[in-house]
Amino acid sequence: MLRIGFFLAVLFACFSCTKTTTTTCSNSLNPNSCLDNSITIDTSKINRKVLIIGVDGFRSNAMQEEITPFLFQLSHSPNVFFNSCHHIEDYTISGPNWSSILTGVHWCKHQVLDNSFTDNQLQEFPHFFRYIENADTSISTVSIVNWTPINEYLAFSIADHAPTESITDEMVYQQSVDLLQNQIPISPDILFLHFDNPDAAGHGHGFSPEVAEYSNTLTQTDLYIEQLFSIIESKRANGEDWLVFIISDHGGDGTGHSDGQDNPHISNTVFFAQHPNLQFKPNQLSSQVDLTPSVLDFMGINSQEFNCKTDGSSIFQ
Ligand SMILES: [Zn+2]
Ligand SMILES: [Zn+2]
Repeated sequence: MLRIGFFLAVLFACFSCTKTTTTTCSNSLNPNSCLDNSITIDTSKINRKVLIIGVDGFRSNAMQEEITPFLFQLSHSPNVFFNSCHHIEDYTISGPNWSSILTGVHWCKHQVLDNSFTDNQLQEFPHFFRYIENADTSISTVSIVNWTPINEYLAFSIADHAPTESITDEMVYQQSVDLLQNQIPISPDILFLHFDNPDAAGHGHGFSPEVAEYSNTLTQTDLYIEQLFSIIESKRANGEDWLVFIISDHGGDGTGHSDGQDNPHISNTVFFAQHPNLQFKPNQLSSQVDLTPSVLDFMGINSQEFNCKTDGSSIFQ
């Protein structure tokens, strides 16, 4: 009996995520309360570099040894922050979630409630590239995406390079290699990538580890990620200090992911951060708004305006 209880407890721990009862989401923030635009820079950190790999529609339980062998091994590696219960926004579609990931504030502030981006407040709550460019314009910020609204509404006019033409995942990968290895067209210091094939396959055939069309796209994405990691490792060997994130906007169930607040296959996804020697906070229940403060913390950028506006917190100790 006891043994069965223990077994069930282990099962429960493996297959369930603690439901976050409240998203501390308040749109009552008066923009005039964040007027202190002073920024301090830690000069020992400002030359660091960041790669963020975004994967659209990555359902947590599809992160398996057979489907994503590289990520599976990464999730068990030292010096890795991994959360398969990464909590997404109340609006369980792409626009609100990529907006929260890239601004560090919840939907009630940035007001991206769907994929139309109508009436958004992204001027007031901008893409985090804004805080980086304000700290040091010589830092090269780049965003390469399959799903173009990210660059059209969030990165465009802030990033040094954020093309808005539609490209495939293979082209996202190829352009990221050109950027990282050949500095074409520039040498990125902060690079955001967005892969979309898992989401497209999920809508077409079903978001499930059992669906070959869906899991095959994750296997291909896993290969891209493995190859990107090997490029980063060679840059580290050359003395560059890189932090790598893998993040997703939502999971999926059946062939969709709308209105999925109460469905853990949709409302939780995977989140990884990897750095060879920095310490991550243990057991932090990460959410979409934590990526931006973590990047700024890593880069040694302390913006009073951002600190006033953000809903997230850094995953570094
Ligand atoms: Zn999406
Ligand atoms: Zn979708």
